Amino acid sequence: MSLLLSEETSIFDQLSTFGHQQVVYCSDPDTGLKAIIAVHDTTLGPAFGGTRMWLYKNEAEALRDVLRLSRSMTYKASITGLNLGGGKAVIIGDSRVEKSEASMRRFGKFIKNMNGSFITAEDVGTSSKDMEYIRMETKHVTGVPKSLGGSGDPSPVTAKGVFMGIKAAVKEMFGNDSLAGRTVAVQGTGNVGENLVGLLRKENVKVYISDIDEDRLANVAKKHGAEAVSNNRIYDLEVDIYSPCALGATINSETIEKLKCGIIAGSANNQLADEAIHGKLLLDKGIIYTPDYLINAGGLINSYSEIAGFNRERTMQLAENIYDATRTVIKKSKIENIPTHLAANRIAEKRIADMKRIKATY
Ligand code: NAD
Repeated sequence: MSLLLSEETSIFDQLSTFGHQQVVYCSDPDTGLKAIIAVHDTTLGPAFGGTRMWLYKNEAEALRDVLRLSRSMTYKASITGLNLGGGKAVIIGDSRVEKSEASMRRFGKFIKNMNGSFITAEDVGTSSKDMEYIRMETKHVTGVPKSLGGSGDPSPVTAKGVFMGIKAAVKEMFGNDSLAGRTVAVQGTGNVGENLVGLLRKENVKVYISDIDEDRLANVAKKHGAEAVSNNRIYDLEVDIYSPCALGATINSETIEKLKCGIIAGSANNQLADEAIHGKLLLDKGIIYTPDYLINAGGLINSYSEIAGFNRERTMQLAENIYDATRTVIKKSKIENIPTHLAANRIAEKRIADMKRIKATY
């Protein structure tokens, strides 16, 4: 889902190329706010997406980012079966020094003016405190503190989704989805990684872990009975599953050459360094890659639950649906001999087209 647009491409051309519905420029010289909100598609529901604050090189770069990210949100919500559309907002600036209560509340007013067609959440460079400021001006925001009706830490939900994605891939590869005795290498033992390690260990999985934070690594190893390995060994391990839960782009020509696993399933965003090249390489090598944007959708599910007023149990049930969605994607990939990320994209597009045809209500 790459957006290859040059800086000279006109804004309207950029919008029409990937079907964006609306872009709102928000400017408030008094507070210094400069933001762009992109609504990609609202067929399934209101456009939902985080607000990223970043010191972009220029406005063209900010626009490209918000268009790319909002479109990804459409696919993510669709493949996960949620009644949400895709959107995103970017605030141009250094989040460490250029953020204030006034600028965030002013931004909240811009969201309010969109009358519910866009709902936001925290992202890189924004925090739950910022969401609280936005909440003072509009109800179209999630990720506020629990005391204000927020859904809390999304990481356990994300880990559950990744766990279900792993089970679905194991079922495809081994004929049953029991994880007992399987081996998994989890890269990154942060919020999601640690929760995932906990779930895997409960199923008697042999878990190897790596992290650049050595204290964290040692703590997680001790707490869950996992085996800590150095970062440069993680790709060489003889394991059934490699689970990237740290950074993007760890699946590239060099690592694919090394990997001995049959399955890749983790929470990191944008795991394939180049979708076109590495998706195909994995297919040819017979490695099942569970698309990152599907199995890490727990965070989105968590936000959706906040909007819909679901409790934790219902939220976890929604995360469990990732099992069936992953199985459907893997099957389509096999039948059509296409990489799994493409299979997922096509399923997401079909759901949107179907709902458009019947003019689904939300
Ligand atoms: P986190 O910051 O809590 O944890 C990331 C961990 O990775 C840290 O412990 C860090 O030290 C480690 N790390 C960084 N670079 C590393 C490297 N080169 N090798 C090994 N370890 C490294 O983040 P998180 O919330 O656990 O999220 C993990 C990934 O999942 C991120 O890519 C995030 O974008 C993605 N994700 C998270 C959620 C969520 O609900 N938290 C939802 C969707 C996607």
